[in-house]
Formats: sequence, structure tokens, C-alpha cells
Amino acid sequence: MSENIFITEERIEGADDGPLAGKTVAVKDNISTAGVRTTCGSKMLEEYVPPYDATVVARLKEAGATIVGKANMDEFGMGTTTETSYFGETDNPAAPGHVPGGSSGGSAAAVAAGEADLALGSDTGGSVRCPAAFCGVVGIKPTYGLVSRYGLVAYGNSLEQIGPFGETVEDAAALLDVIAGSDERDATTRSEGDDANYADAATGDVDGLQIGVPTELLEGADEGVVETFWDAIAELEDKGASYHEVSLPSVEHAVEAYYVIAMSEASSNLARFDGVRYGHSGGYDGNWNETFAKAREEGFGDEVKRRILLGTYALSAGYHDKYYKKAQDARAWVKQDFDEALTEADVLASPTMPVPPFELGESLDDPLKMYLADANTTPVNLADLPAISVPAGETDGLPVGLQLVGPAFGEERLIRAASALA
Ligand code: GLN
Repeated sequence: MSENIFITEERIEGADDGPLAGKTVAVKDNISTAGVRTTCGSKMLEEYVPPYDATVVARLKEAGATIVGKANMDEFGMGTTTETSYFGETDNPAAPGHVPGGSSGGSAAAVAAGEADLALGSDTGGSVRCPAAFCGVVGIKPTYGLVSRYGLVAYGNSLEQIGPFGETVEDAAALLDVIAGSDERDATTRSEGDDANYADAATGDVDGLQIGVPTELLEGADEGVVETFWDAIAELEDKGASYHEVSLPSVEHAVEAYYVIAMSEASSNLARFDGVRYGHSGGYDGNWNETFAKAREEGFGDEVKRRILLGTYALSAGYHDKYYKKAQDARAWVKQDFDEALTEADVLASPTMPVPPFELGESLDDPLKMYLADANTTPVNLADLPAISVPAGETDGLPVGLQLVGPAFGEERLIRAASALA
């Protein structure tokens, strides 16, 4: 396949009937599938075959879906382009020659290319919304605690959620219906979504909806992206919504705070990959320290190593207060800002990504450029809130996504509003 969408193409058949009977689903390769390789896009887990299903995979099977493959991704979810995958880059079916976004780039590309009806990704700082925006499909980042993370290989566990992709809002919502809901195997799940009906919420009714536009999330964004964003807002206005500007002063610190927290959690989560407990082994040569170091040196790519080093530094004695604690303070401030803004508006709207899709290879040597592209998505993970990315149009032939953010467990509201644009 020219797009390099799947790492492993193996069909997993679900139950004979159910709400997703006849639907094909691509699953990001950091979500465990019993008996089917789950690599996280890493050489470290090239041979890893999980002995159990993630809760979301068990729910897909029960719902009658057919899993058609494990989708390519940035290594361990670390990236915005899917180019950090050990298994090579994925081309963007909606904009050939450009990245599909990341880290769930294979999942979004699978839906955009028609290789799957639906897909699952995970979103730690934007990894569902960014590829949805770049590939011109719909992606939902659920409220923290709505979807079980049991069987998701952890990157930044205080930030991440598994989320659905679909070609339409209704499709993505129907997949959310299947995966959402409390799970005794993940103590961070909550029961608030247990009775929700997301697919039925896709009515497109935005009459009277108050949209808040955080001015900070338009600053520094590409001109064509901003223009497309305002066109989408005008469309919502035509359908009965109104908008006003709101302010989220704390978001200027969000990218920094996100990366300190995500890298700190990653450095701790990835400690288990030492070639003995888990992962690639370079062989034992009589010295355990060197054995572990060799396994990690060979098994991890550059971006993962960079983050383990920075995260370990941020957590080390003497620097913990200076970096990690400060980032947690910023996180609390970001949460408070969102809560306040959401008392003044029903939903908050911004471009999902401040830039259109990068050309393949364009950002690989410039990690900072890649990190800064997460300016509009990472604040939402810091605040634990739900968000949806829906196609807003194009700039110079490249897809642009509109992001809507709502209050905790307000997914139905987001789905109702976003479906007005479809
Ligand atoms: N681009 C962000 C990062 O690299 C987000 C990744 C994600 O959500 N998994 O950390």
C-alpha cells in the first residue's frame, strides 16, 4: 500500500451482530490485541504479541466490528507527523506528499483512504485531533475517564484517552457509543457517560448555541487556516449559533507544561522496556547495566530517547520543583481558565492545528517546530476536557480542522454542534 497505513494487516472478526456489524475498524498499534502484534511503532516492541485484548478492543468485537489492521503511529505516540515510526512514514491520502498528522496518523489515513470505515487512536496532546484535521476526517478526544485505557500502552497516562475517527461526526459518535463507559479494569474511568447516546446526538441543531472563540488560539496561526476557521464559524452562525471572543490567558504556557508532564510520565512509563521484562533484547554479555543500556539504545528511536532524557531530568532531585511541579501548577491554571470560559459559552472553537499539514520530511529535524504545532490541542488534555475535530474546509488544497471543546462529559453537545458542519 503506497500510503503505508498499517503496521500489521491482520483481520480480527467480531461477533456476528451488534451495532457495528459489517463495519471495518483500524486500530492504532499501541492498543493491545490478543494474539496480534502490537508494536507502538517501535523496534522495541517489533515482536510483541499481547496475551489479552484492550477493553476497547473487546468492546469492538462484542459490537460486531471487524478489525482490519494495526495502524501506523509515531513511536510510542511521540510526535505530530507519524514520521517517528520505526516502520516508516505514512503518506496523507487527502494531501499526498504531506504528513497525515500524528501520532495516530495511520488511523486517520485509514479512514481518509477508505481502508476502514472507522478507526481508533489515542490522544495524549492532540494525537486524535491533529491527524483528523490533517486528513480531513472527524476525530474525538473524550473527557478524561470516559473511555477505558486498559490495554493502551501508556505514554502520558494522566493526559491520554483513546478516541474514535470516522468520515462523519455520526460515524465517530457511533464508535464512541461502543467504547465509552466505565470499566472495572481502569480505576480512572467514570460512569457519567454510561447512559449517553452519542450517535443520536448528531442532529446538527445549533440553534441558540453560544460559541466562545479564545483569541489566544488564533494568535500566530497560519492566515489561510484562520480564514477557513472563520468561514466555518459563519456557517454555524447561519444555522442559528452566535459567537463572541473569550480569553484563556494561561494557554501561552500550555505547550511547555504539557511537554514537561508528558515527558516526565513517559520517562517513568518507558522504564519497563529493558529487554528483560519487556521489549527488544540486545543479548546478555555478562553485565546487566550494559545489557539494559544496549537494549534501550537499539530499541528506541531518537525522539523517544530525547523525551526519556528530558523527562528523567525534569523529575530528578533538585529539578523536580523547578520543572515538574511548576508544570503541574500551570496545568491547574489552564483547567481553571477553561472552566471559567465555559461558563461564558457552550463550546469553545479554534482551528484544531494552527498550520496546514507539513510536507513529508519538513519538520523531522526541528522538534521545536513540531511541539509548537500542538498549541491548540495540548491545553485540552491539561484540562481533562472533551474535544472534537471536524473538517472546516481547505487552504491551498490542504485540509483544515475546526476544534470544538466542551465541559467535562459534554460530548453530546460537541457532537450536536460539529454535525452542523458535515
Ligand atoms: N504531539 C504530541 C506529542 O508528541 C501529542 C502526542 C499524542 O497525543 N500522543 O506528545
